[in-house]
Amino acid sequence: MARITILGAGVVGMSIASVLSRRHSITIVARDMPGDPPSTEWASPWAGASFIFGGCKDRREMQMQLDAFAELWRLSDTSPASGIKKMTINDAFDEEKEDGDIWWKDHVPDVSRVSS
Ligand SMILES: Cc1cc2nc3c(=O)[nH]c(=O)nc-3n(C[C@H](O)[C@H](O)[C@H](O)COP(=O)(O)OP(=O)(O)OC[C@H]3O[C@@H](n4cnc5c(N)ncnc54)[C@H](O)[C@@H]3O)c2cc1C
Repeated sequence: MARITILGAGVVGMSIASVLSRRHSITIVARDMPGDPPSTEWASPWAGASFIFGGCKDRREMQMQLDAFAELWRLSDTSPASGIKKMTINDAFDEEKEDGDIWWKDHVPDVSRVSS
């Protein structure tokens, strides 16, 4: 078991802490903590918090998004207290998309394309 210090208690720091704390001793150091009064000094209390694929520059980033999606999917099934819920999303694009642009479609249940 390693002793790990995480700087920041936003969604990034807390997500990393949630995973690493299964095997390691975690200390979180942050100016703002979940539960503090609202402040515009940090982003997470204001986030919409929807997970949407995209914006990847290489396969490594694609895999990171797939891993995050799998973990969120697992939590939505196993941990209702997490507040993570599945929702149907309709994405509308201005330009025509090739199948390769929607690289994540085979990893998400019930993806379908509708032409305008
Ligand atoms: C209105 C809005 C809607 C959004 N909707 C979405 C969405 O639907 N989906 C999505 O994926 N993203 C969304 N985002 C973006 C998302 O909220 C941010 O990318 C994310 O919250 C950033 O998290 P973070 O942990 O990196 O940073 P933050 O949440 O900003 O946390 C930073 C942490 O570092 C600490 N810190 C900073 N500086 C110091 C310092 N000098 N010393 C000590 N501690 C320090 C802070 O106190 C805090 O604990 C949205 C953002 C906004 C504003």
